[in-house]
Amino acid sequence: CARQAGPGSVRRWEVSLGAARDRRERLREDLVGARARGELAIAWQPIVSLAEQRVTGVEALARWVHPVFGELEPEEFIPIAERAGLVGDLQRWVLHEAMTQAAALPEHDQPLRLGVNVSPVHLASGTVVGDVAAALAATGFPAQRLVVEVTGSTGLVDSPSLAADFAALRLMGVHLALDDFGAGASSLEHLTRWAVDVVKLDRAFLARVDKDARPRALCASVVGIGSALGIDVVAEGVETPSQLTVLRALGCGFAQGFLLSRPLTLPALVARLDAGAGHLWPGQVGRVGAG
Ligand code: C2E
Ligand code: MG
Ligand code: MG
Ligand code: MG
Repeated sequence: CARQAGPGSVRRWEVSLGAARDRRERLREDLVGARARGELAIAWQPIVSLAEQRVTGVEALARWVHPVFGELEPEEFIPIAERAGLVGDLQRWVLHEAMTQAAALPEHDQPLRLGVNVSPVHLASGTVVGDVAAALAATGFPAQRLVVEVTGSTGLVDSPSLAADFAALRLMGVHLALDDFGAGASSLEHLTRWAVDVVKLDRAFLARVDKDARPRALCASVVGIGSALGIDVVAEGVETPSQLTVLRALGCGFAQGFLLSRPLTLPALVARLDAGAGHLWPGQVGRVGAG
């Protein structure tokens, strides 16, 4: 127990708990003005069609470049925003900014789809449909190219109003993606309850898909469910060529991950799209085509 470890270690533990609390408190205060100070940014991660061997979409990932702590991960600041009642403001900024920037991307074979994440807390607040509609109207971004990504893995409270919101988004032409599928509290029932367009297979399944028959069987089943229901399946967190080879063999439609591209700044994304004319980067084509 803590006492046996000595009073010094108890104090260190208290100090580090206190430091974590202080950091959260500091971030909560700073988040209020972050947008106005221009500290928020978007990182862009390409999504690749394995059948077409080209980039067919991008996901917008929120970043906060804090003046003292540097670039912060959404996993740190989104929960703080949620608890402080600031996630709606943050989300409205992300929607507007992502659509404004994506509308200006170079078009190659076909315009890219844009994935934007929304938080369950924002969904529960009831303003998501209005916020999406306002951003579409303000930016002129085509609703058919927007994919709203919702994670079923944490606290997505199924309710008539949630189902109504999803229906309203689809009526607007917006696509719906179930994010982190297979992780946490996400369930197959989500697929029967809501008309989902895209399932994003959590990267936990990808980690050993090339080494272990069990995750491979699970991936194969999700790919099968996808094709039976007309749902696109995106494999998240693809890091190695052998994972990609397995996914292609299973008939998985889309992939996203560090192997294909890390999240990029907008100029880097534009350069990548221009260099590859929207196709897989030269380094990837041989490997993927050979697989
Ligand atoms: P997500 O929507 O599942 O996004 C994918 C996350 O996986 C991103 O982390 C991305 O950088 C990371 N990733 C992509 N490929 C790989 C890979 O090959 N290996 C590994 N290890 N990681 C990979 P990021 O940007 O830190 O975002 C984390 C989560 O934060 C997102 O998970 C999403 O749930 C949430 N998030 C991001 N932006 C927003 C936002 O604007 N609003 C809300 N509500 N949530 C957001
Ligand atoms: Mg991260
Ligand atoms: Mg996502
Ligand atoms: Mg995910």
